[in-house]
Amino acid sequence: MILKGFEALKSFLSKPKHIVLIGHRNPDGDAMGSTLGLQHYLTKKGHKATVVVPNEYNSQSQKAINTSDIIFLLDFNALHRVGFDMQKTLEKYSNDFVMIDHHQQPDDVKYMYSDVEICATCQMVYQFIEMNNDLDLIDEAIATCLYTGIMTDTGSFRFRSTTSKTHRIIADLIEKGAQNDKIHNNVYDANSYGRLLLLGQALSNLQILPAYKTAFITLTEAEKKKFDFQKGDTEGIVNYALSLKGIIFAAIFIEDKEQHIIKISFRSKGDFSVNQFSRNHFNGGGHDNAAGGKFNGSVEEVITTFKELLPTYKNELNRSYEI
Ligand code: 5GP
Ligand code: MN
Repeated sequence: MILKGFEALKSFLSKPKHIVLIGHRNPDGDAMGSTLGLQHYLTKKGHKATVVVPNEYNSQSQKAINTSDIIFLLDFNALHRVGFDMQKTLEKYSNDFVMIDHHQQPDDVKYMYSDVEICATCQMVYQFIEMNNDLDLIDEAIATCLYTGIMTDTGSFRFRSTTSKTHRIIADLIEKGAQNDKIHNNVYDANSYGRLLLLGQALSNLQILPAYKTAFITLTEAEKKKFDFQKGDTEGIVNYALSLKGIIFAAIFIEDKEQHIIKISFRSKGDFSVNQFSRNHFNGGGHDNAAGGKFNGSVEEVITTFKELLPTYKNELNRSYEI
């Protein structure tokens, strides 16, 4: 755990400031929940707080950034995670950054709260509010935001990063107004017909490599088009590969013609670190059991590369997790 400069930050924030909050590009529930939850809290504390989403980066975002006194970076560990244009603006930023994040190997900024043991940045935002003795300020809106991110980053409270403390925080968020059934419905039972058909396609592309306790899924640009792909539709599909009995390492390779890359998600169970695997071979990173990466080339090429790497990890994969 790294906690750096928080007393100084407290005194800096004791007067009203213009604050910008940024989550990573292609935000998930934790990135949106932590930025919006903290925005509500900072607004209640008398600041002017603005959330800027990297995907919607435009002149208005740039203006908000350039007129801010301080920027909160939430749910990401390195500036390149916001995408090229915004990264350039942030690199020129002359005021300070606060990073609240749970990914491994974070960049160094002036004010840091980094803890890779915590399941979600939203839990860290709760603990940040707690450090400021402000839990009483958590209302229904803040509770809803923070509940959402903890729910999505823990796979609905099932991953091993989910602790008794997480459950105590969740209980408190429910008491403060988070409507758990509504939040689950809005996130998980809001599929379009196209998304379910895309999932069907993904599942029929699933390949299993039992010798390596590994399974992977592919989706081509043509398949995405066929089922009317919308941003976010592939979220979570990789977990189906990991749900196979005996599988402890799963990947999904998604063709992205717009960015000219194959976007990859890795998931694992037990001690096999997909963060390390992705850092070593696919220019990515994340957590031990959930990471992302990218590959320059075709779907066929990424499959070949992936399959060629597996023998090196055969022993690790086979001793990693007793099922
Ligand atoms: P996902 O597979 O859901 O996109 O991402 C899994 C985890 O890895 C998330 O915590 C995400 O922030 C992180 N992640 C995804 N892609 C990348 C990447 O390219 N680089 C790094 N460092 N982390 C990533
Ligand atoms: Mn997160």
